[in-house]
Amino acid sequence: MAYIEPAPLKDRENPFEAMMSRFHVASQILGLEDEIYNVLKSPSRQVIVSLPVTMDDGSIRVFEGYRVIHSNILGPSKGGIRYDPMVNLDEVKALAAWMTWKCAVVDIPYGGAKGGITCNPREMSSGEIERLTRAYTTAMFHVFGPDQDIPAPDMGTGPREMAWLMDEYSKMRGMTVNAVVTGKPIVLGGSLGRTEATGRGVMVSAMAAMEKLKINPYKATCAVQGFGNVGSWAARLLHERGLTVQAISDLSGAYYSEKGIDPEKAVAYRDANKGSLEGFPDATRITNEELLELPVDVLVPAATEDVITGSNAPKIQAKLIVEGANGPTSSKADSIINDKGIMVVPDILANAGGVTVSYFEWIQNRLGYKWTADRVNRRSDRIMKDAFNNVFKVAQEYKVPMRIAAYMVAIDKVAKTYKYRGGF
Ligand code: GLU
Repeated sequence: MAYIEPAPLKDRENPFEAMMSRFHVASQILGLEDEIYNVLKSPSRQVIVSLPVTMDDGSIRVFEGYRVIHSNILGPSKGGIRYDPMVNLDEVKALAAWMTWKCAVVDIPYGGAKGGITCNPREMSSGEIERLTRAYTTAMFHVFGPDQDIPAPDMGTGPREMAWLMDEYSKMRGMTVNAVVTGKPIVLGGSLGRTEATGRGVMVSAMAAMEKLKINPYKATCAVQGFGNVGSWAARLLHERGLTVQAISDLSGAYYSEKGIDPEKAVAYRDANKGSLEGFPDATRITNEELLELPVDVLVPAATEDVITGSNAPKIQAKLIVEGANGPTSSKADSIINDKGIMVVPDILANAGGVTVSYFEWIQNRLGYKWTADRVNRRSDRIMKDAFNNVFKVAQEYKVPMRIAAYMVAIDKVAKTYKYRGGF
């Protein structure tokens, strides 16, 4: 295939370019044809909407909302909705493409999409967030659908927003359509195990990687960056499996204890402290930057994109990085991390537990049936373990890092499906 110069790398990496540079490398190793490369590199649909919302003080504010459908080759598109002040089209495009590769790596029949609204939910009342969510749903009514495009939570959203979305969409359809969105509250047809699913998948892939690296979990230490849904569940479940969680962090800073932090206590503290770890006792305050550079066995970046960069990668001391967040490692950091011999379980594999249980939720909604938590966990653990082993095998066979191997598995699957379908 034709060589396309990777995008110039700035200090703060554009997430779409970061995604494309890995896609490019994996496509070259696979010998992907130019035509298919061009199809897969371009998002199939990008929708931008303006959302006027009446604020509590009576004023009207206009928010910008996005939904990018990267691909629907494997099935209806799937992906979360992010509420964050930094949301922009390039970020949503990258996150949508990552969803395509993520669904393909774990072999579930979905394409990839992502949505977002540029807003700061921390500074908005619940009523304002509800009106914003309903306005977004109305604007995206023709995009969403249980057989078309199925949203879910992401940064800044959770079951509450998914409930409003389901309600608004159902009202417009004139019937209850719970399969239009996943990550709903259990009473609305949410799946048992969905809340902890992403963190659980992080734990399953970390355990699988530790087995390969011969790290004894009972003697291992870990640091988790980000204490939202993914990070806090990953910390709790890794702690349950014997690891000493030496550091955790959130927007307020990072908290370190050589003896270990009890993640259950940290969750209770956070929940009683307006969602923040500020003032967390029995730990030394360090910075988020210092957390990343601790001499731990396992590092779990579970906050946001682009935290392991060309400048701090040389200082990373962990033996294993398990990416709970999407895109936490910049493409510039990849080669530094690889040269240091650190194993990385990449985002599109490590955090795929969330979308896997979303898939189970959608299946249950369509069947009008409910699975037990045990069934959900057993099946998602199996999927995560199989996907890990599959990617590991490709990494060994082609002598490439796990990240490139994961992209190769995903791109190969989507490309083959596209060829069988004959293009459309
Ligand atoms: N937002 C999550 C992710 O990035 C979940 C997506 C979903 O469940 O559809 O994987």
